[in-house]
Amino acid sequence: MKKDIHPKYYEKATVECACGNKFETGSTKEHISVEICSACHPFYTGKHKLVDTAGRVDKFKAKINKAETAKAAKEAREKQKKAKVIKQKIKDKGKKKGNEQKPASPKSSQGGPGKK
Ligand SMILES: [Zn+2]
Repeated sequence: MKKDIHPKYYEKATVECACGNKFETGSTKEHISVEICSACHPFYTGKHKLVDTAGRVDKFKAKINKAETAKAAKEAREKQKKAKVIKQKIKDKGKKKGNEQKPASPKSSQGGPGKK
């Protein structure tokens, strides 16, 4: 080994996991703290589990909830808009029918007396 280029190697470095598991390993760091280890990782435990680091999962869930409520509100607003448009269309149709009927009625009245 070349001199003065290698970091100090700790043969019994302690690793501490967020789940409480501790073990020793060789490392250039004396103490290592990890968020997940072989005792709590879903791959080894076989259990499905959300690995939450610093509340990121909760943050994400909150974000999703917010987005969904916003979406629902938007959809409700669009439904209202559509309902308004439909109402307007129905009104317009009623007006058009009224207009169509008005010119038709004088003709029929005119034709009626002519045939008699
Ligand atoms: Zn762990």
